[in-house]
Amino acid sequence: MIITVDGPAAAGKGTLSQKLADKYGLAYFDTGMVYRAVGLRMLLNNCDLNNVEVAEKEAENLTFVSMIELSKNKDFRSARGGEAASIVSSYSGVRARLLDMQKNFAKNPTFADGTPAKGVIYDGRDTGTVICPNAKIKFFITASPEVRAKRRYDEFIAKGMDAQYDVVLSDVKKRDERDANRKDAPMKPADDAIILDTSDMGIDDVFNEAVKVIEGKI
Ligand code: C5P
Repeated sequence: MIITVDGPAAAGKGTLSQKLADKYGLAYFDTGMVYRAVGLRMLLNNCDLNNVEVAEKEAENLTFVSMIELSKNKDFRSARGGEAASIVSSYSGVRARLLDMQKNFAKNPTFADGTPAKGVIYDGRDTGTVICPNAKIKFFITASPEVRAKRRYDEFIAKGMDAQYDVVLSDVKKRDERDANRKDAPMKPADDAIILDTSDMGIDDVFNEAVKVIEGKI
């Protein structure tokens, strides 16, 4: 079984995807990680994020193992790391070089400890449109920028990170703009995606709604 969950930053894709992965015994691939890994490599090497060639080289050299290693860095999930990921993800050459790694995961999905999984759940911006256009179950999760900024702000605070709501909100809007307007694979719902607006929904409501859709399809 392959499920794709796309949508803008902080819409609740990750939480929903992990709960669905647990329920259906699926491996979880958070595809934002590939862009965060490339962006972080550039930050760690003091590279200019506008240098497309260096970004392409980092994407070319990225492996699953190096991505997992980079994900342990404190800046991987920081606002700085998110901004770097957003910038490098707008380069077509970077996206092209990271395509196979994402697509191939569905051929032999495994959990973190290497045991085989029954399928995969992809979380991202283009997983229903580009990575797995043939997936039978696709969701597009969204919420207003204000609600998403509040969720992201609460997450940063809960992790003991420094954050200001206004700054997080403007970052969310900037990332939306970049995701929607990039030339290659702009973020949009797949034609056959179920759209869930979670602005007024708690995670349990979103999960129950998604399970209803899945049960109807399998
Ligand atoms: O989801 P996350 O915040 O980790 O994603 C980091 C950045 O990677 C996003 O801002 C987005 O620009 C980019 N991204 C993407 N395509 C995906 C997943 C993430 O362009 N499938």
